[in-house]
Order: sequence, then C-alpha cells, then structure tokens
Amino acid sequence: MSKDRFQGHDYYLLDDLLTDEQKLIRDSVRAWVKQEVSPIIEGYAQRAEFPKHLLKGLADIGAFGPYIPTKYGGQGLDQITYGLIMQEIERGDSGIRSTASVQSSLVMYPIYKYGSEEQRMKYLPKLATGEMMGCFGLTEPDSGSDPSSMITNIKDKGDHYLLNGAKMWISNAPFADIAVVWAKNEEGKIKGIIVERGMEGFTTPETHDKWSLRASATGELVFDNVKVPKRKSSS
Ligand SMILES: Cc1cc2nc3c(=O)[nH]c(=O)nc-3n(C[C@H](O)[C@H](O)[C@H](O)COP(=O)(O)OP(=O)(O)OC[C@H]3O[C@@H](n4cnc5c(N)ncnc54)[C@H](O)[C@@H]3O)c2cc1C
Repeated sequence: MSKDRFQGHDYYLLDDLLTDEQKLIRDSVRAWVKQEVSPIIEGYAQRAEFPKHLLKGLADIGAFGPYIPTKYGGQGLDQITYGLIMQEIERGDSGIRSTASVQSSLVMYPIYKYGSEEQRMKYLPKLATGEMMGCFGLTEPDSGSDPSSMITNIKDKGDHYLLNGAKMWISNAPFADIAVVWAKNEEGKIKGIIVERGMEGFTTPETHDKWSLRASATGELVFDNVKVPKRKSSS
C-alpha cells in the first residue's frame, strides 16, 4: 500500500472500487464545487439565502437526475455515480446538495417510476436542465417520521382531484415550479400527486431563521381546495 494513497485520504481504498468514468465524473464535480460553491457559500449561509445562480451549473454538471434514462433528459448513469456527484456537492454545502438530491431522488425518480408516459415527457427533460425545479411534500406539522398520520387529503371529483392540507419543512418549496405531494384519498390510502405552481389555492410560504442548511430554501406547501386535473395513466 503506497504512502501516496494515504496522502489522498483514500484510507479504505474506495477508489479501487470505482471505474475510470466514475472517478472522472467525481473529479470534475469536485473541481466545479471548489470553483463555484466553496468561495461563495459562507456568505449565502450567513444571509440564509439560496444561491439561485448555481442552478444552471448544477444542471450542467449532471446533478439533476443523472441516472434517469437519456430518453427523458437524464444521462443514464448508475447509482454509484449519482452518489459520487452528491458526495462532492455535499463537500461544498449540505443545502446545495439538498436542492440537487430532492430534485433527483424525490421529484424526478417518482415521476420516472410511477408517472404516466405523458408526465415523464412533460416534466423530466425540463427538470434535468433545471429549467423547471421541483419539491417533495411528505412532512406535515404533526406528521414527520410517521407519514401514515398525515391529514393532507384528495377527493376524487371526476375530471380532477380536490386537494386540501399543508406540508412543512419542504426543501426548494419557495421557488419550485412543481411539487410531488403525498395525500390520503377517501379510502385512507396515500397517493402521490403532481401540483403545479399557479394552481389556484396553492401557496408556498418560506420558512425563515433555520439553524442549519441555511443556504437551502425551505418552505411550506399550503393547499386550499386546489383542483388538480387528472392526467392519462401509463399505458
Ligand atoms: C431543512 C429541512 C429540510 C427538509 N426537507 C424536506 C422535504 O423536502 N420534504 C419533506 O417531506 N420533508 C422534509 N423535511 C422534514 C424531515 O423529513 C422531517 O423533519 C423528518 O421526517 C422528521 O420528522 P419530524 O421533524 O416531524 O420529527 P418527529 O417525527 O417528530 O421525530 C422527532 C424525533 O423523535 C424520533 N422518533 C420519532 N419516532 C420515533 C420512534 N417510533 N422511535 C424512536 N424514535 C422516534 C426521531 O428520530 C426524531 O429524533 C425537512 C426537514 C428539514 C429540517
């Protein structure tokens, strides 16, 4: 075991488990974080402000849904590469990593896995380029670790669902264009639904004075009789 490897802090020889492509992607994300995130992040964290100008760069380095197939705007990479990209962003700041991992794992993945083909084509390519940003609404004021106690609900009204309730501690909420929201139907089953900014009765008040993840934008999702149109289901 060479001394050089310890100097690189690879104490567990993890690099030996990675492909050349994985190492190349990791190193280029590391260089981007060093250049774009590290020099500015302290000021943004102190001011509790999200550095929105980083969204384009995050999309360019492939931080939004890298494992989503290229057909839907992703890069078709493996989950280890995705983990390495998040690890390097985390090195710069947890809040920025939150923005990227929420977009990838909590917004793009459920749409890819459970959405209809129409929903995949409509949302995924724009989410991959950062042209559209998303958030994920599960937690409620009285329902965190135990999501089955949620009270946010949908009622089937024929051509649309009627959504009522509120979510809190939602990353990206203040600027998200869409929200993947979890709500109980009339039978008490938890369903996922996509809510778009601009739908009547949907608001996203920002949460202020956090003690951590200060450079991440966090907010509530409030649904007051929001009519969510039904979409064609997957064929
Ligand atoms: C900055 C930030 C961003 C967030 N972003 C999102 C987001 O994007 N989307 C979203 O849906 N949520 C988000 N959350 C919410 C987060 O997922 C919840 O805070 C988390 O699920 C815990 O829920 P809670 O805060 O209600 O804590 P609680 O569920 O009340 O838990 C409080 C404590 O009790 C412990 N505990 C709870 N139940 C048990 C048990 N049965 N046995 C032993 N210990 C237990 C927990 O481990 C914890 O330490 C975010 C939170 C923060 C702070």
